[in-house]
Parts: sequence; structure tokens; C-alpha cells
Amino acid sequence: MTNKQVAIDPGKQSSTNSPADALSIDTVEGVELYAKHQKIYPRKVSGLFAKLRVSAVLVLLSLYYFLPWFHWGQRQIVLFDLPERQFHIFGMTFWPQDFFYLTAVLIIAALSLFFFTAIAGRLWCGYACPQTVWTEVFLWVERKIEGDRGRQMKLDKGGMSVDKLKKKALKHTLWILFSFWTGVTFVGYFTPIRELTFSLLSFSLGPWELFWIAFFCLATYANAGWMREQVCIYMCPYARFQGAMFDKDTLVISYDTARGDPKGSRQKSEDPKEKGLGDCINCQLCVQVCPTGIDIRDGLQYECIGCAACIDVCNGVMDKMDYNRDLIRYTTEHQLEGHVTNFLRPKLFIYMLVLIAIITAMGLSMANRSAVELDVIRDRNGLYRETSNGLIENTYTLKVMNKDTQVHSFDVTASGLPNMKLLTSSQALPAEPGEVLDLVVSLQIKPVDLERASNKIELTVTSQQDSDIAISEEARFLGP
Ligand code: SF4
Ligand code: SF4
Repeated sequence: MTNKQVAIDPGKQSSTNSPADALSIDTVEGVELYAKHQKIYPRKVSGLFAKLRVSAVLVLLSLYYFLPWFHWGQRQIVLFDLPERQFHIFGMTFWPQDFFYLTAVLIIAALSLFFFTAIAGRLWCGYACPQTVWTEVFLWVERKIEGDRGRQMKLDKGGMSVDKLKKKALKHTLWILFSFWTGVTFVGYFTPIRELTFSLLSFSLGPWELFWIAFFCLATYANAGWMREQVCIYMCPYARFQGAMFDKDTLVISYDTARGDPKGSRQKSEDPKEKGLGDCINCQLCVQVCPTGIDIRDGLQYECIGCAACIDVCNGVMDKMDYNRDLIRYTTEHQLEGHVTNFLRPKLFIYMLVLIAIITAMGLSMANRSAVELDVIRDRNGLYRETSNGLIENTYTLKVMNKDTQVHSFDVTASGLPNMKLLTSSQALPAEPGEVLDLVVSLQIKPVDLERASNKIELTVTSQQDSDIAISEEARFLGP
């Protein structure tokens, strides 16, 4: 992997190059440490991969903007209600106690990233990353107003005119409006979006809502409008460690040097072999469509986000020249070296098996999820107590959490030993959604009914409103 931005030659560094010196200067013997930003004007491209990318953009943006407007039952379909500490997702309600589901989702996301990167490189970056998705929209708006690459470059080079001012003003206004609605939608996942829109229209937004809308509006406008490829190249950590997930059998976008070189222009009617040329006509179109401004013909580079725009445009050139397609293509290092690609690698099976195991465990756990949670804590003041009428008594504190969105009162029952008597003072107290009840429960039994000193019992809490909402927990009953 080459790195076009590295500009320091260790052999040329100053003799006083302590870390402090290195940080305090901008150049080393005239070599720039930081690449000066030059605006990239990606040329519009069409083709199979462009269609796939646009489809992914449309699906993802539709999900993002429309999802919060749908309801599941009485509630917004996805709502992270932070003040109530409830997270409503497709009819299910999660509580902070369900945090391990979030952990499982993050593990699944990380493993999926490893899995798909090992198969086909930076699929995420090229088709699904929010930076790519939103930049695609901003580029579309820019092209609609200012024209394609050539017109944009001419407009930017030219002096200020009424036409230029109008175009720039319209472009930035549309970008800001789109960014603003992105911010509103984002906050709409935390505050019901219909109420939020009403507050917005009646100028009664709260300070936090205003702050986060402004924050996400600014972040979208800056990242997709101004910083674009800079985010991928300098800010995104994934670009830096993706190399660790690649191997020689990973599909990456590559230029076929053996077929394309030596590069050179020629007439369509000329035989390249007679001129000693390969198939690359050196038209530079693959560079002009690249959103990060690199030349894929220099080899795999970490700046390449795998968008496949260079494949589409080069295939178009090959068609026009009546050459075979795929001078730039998805391929593997092994294939380029003339070996057979091994798609069935052990690490892919390991990723897949772990993924299946975690997804299955999470699915089962969610399917069997109860709307009530129970913790049984034994009284720490003594192992057991003998009552005045000769019974053996054990006391427990039951922590009962109502994880439903309705109020419930709970009955407590005990089983596991014969003729057990249950005493509780706080039974049947109503628990609000999310409330944790502390129920103190005493169990009494005749000594003759105890076969051993430590006995397994089961405590069960059941909702009075819905008998399907019940949970049991094992405990020990201790005696002499
Ligand atoms: S688009 Fe294809 S033919 Fe044109 S310069 Fe790039 S690799 Fe060569
Ligand atoms: S080199 Fe090709 S695939 Fe990589 S970012 Fe540029 S256009 Fe996209």
C-alpha cells in the first residue's frame, strides 16, 4: 500500500529533530509536512457500481429520514427516550438494564465489519458510511447547480459575478436546509419527531433540542460540504487499521498493471501492441472521478474508499476503445499474481460462526425476554430464624423491576418445599413502568418438613394485570 501524503525523508531531516522540534516546524528542509488542501471536483460517473451506490444512498437516507415518522402501536417506531430511560425499537422497550443488548449489537457490528472487509475490502466506506452517503447528496446538489467537474472548476477559477454569486448562494442554501433537516431528524430519534416539528414551527424548541439540531446541522454541512475526502483521509480511524483485515484473497479495487502498462494515448484504430502500449489510454478519467483524488494506477492506497467509480468510468473507456472491460476491477492480490483466489478462508468461517452464535443467542434472549426482572437477595442478618411458634423462617428482599410500559402489581409465590407459608407486607404494590419495587418476603416452614440444612426453592412474581408477565428465580431456604 502506498502513501502519497508522506513527505518526510528520514535521511533529510534536520540534526535537531527532537519531537518538540518536529512539532514546532511546518517544513523539513523545504518539504511540506502537511498536504495543502486542494478542492477535488469528482466527475459524474455512470455504470453498474454508480447505480448500486445511488440505490444504497436512497435506501439508507429514506430509512433515516422517514423511520421516525412511523408509529408502532401508540409510540414512535424508534425512539430513544432519555428522560424516561426507555428505548423503544420496533415495538420492544429496552431499559438501561438491557445494556448488554447494546454491547451485543456493537460486537455484531464490529464482527460484520471484519467479515465483510475480509471478503471485499472497504464495502462499508464505498456504499454505506454516512460520510459517503451525505457527500453523495451534496455532490448531486452541487452538480445540479454548478454543472459537472469542468464547469465547477471554471466557475471557481473565474472572478465574482452575479451568476456565480447566485449559484453559490443557492448551493449553500440547499446544503444548509438539507443539513438542518438532518439535525432535526437526528433529534427526532430522541424527542418524538411530531412534537419536535410542532415545537419547531411554533418557535418553542427547548435549549438542548436547539443545541443538538444546530450541532448536527453544522457537522453535516461541514463534513459533506467542505471537508469531504479530508474526513476519510485524516479523521477516520478505520482507514488506518483496515490493512490489518485485508489479506491476499480480499477483493480490492485494483488496476491491472500487467495489462494496462505501458500507458499512452492512441487512436482507436491503432494497434497498441504495434506502438508498444498496454490497454490504458492514459485518459485520466479514473483520477477525475475519484472522490479522494487519487490515481488507482499507483496501487492500493489507504485513501481509496472503494467506491468503484474508477471501475465504472474505465469500463466506459474500454467499451469505446473496443477493448475488454475490467482493466480496473474488483480482484485479489493472489489473482493479480496469477494464483487462484481462496474465498473459503478459515478466518471467514470463524467470523461467520461467531456472528451466527451471537445473533442466535441475542435473538433467543430477546424472544424470551420478560417484561419483569427479578433479583432475590437473602437477608444478611442471619441464616434463619426460629419463630415463637417453632417455625423456621428465612427472609428475602425481592427486587422486582417492571420493564413493561404499563403499570403492574405483582403477586409473589414460593415453591420447592411442602407446606411453606409466605408472608409479605408489601405485596401487590403497583409498579410504574421502569420502577424497581423492593418486596420483603418471609417464608416459614415446620422443621419436620425440612430434609436438609440447605434447600432449593423457587420464588415467582406474576403480574395481576397480565399473567403472562411472570418470572421465577431460584433461592436457598436454610434451616438447622
Ligand atoms: S480510466 Fe482506464 S484507460 Fe483511462 S487512465 Fe484510467 S485506467 Fe487508463
Ligand atoms: S481509487 Fe477508485 S475506488 Fe478508490 S476512491 Fe478513487 S474512484 Fe473510488
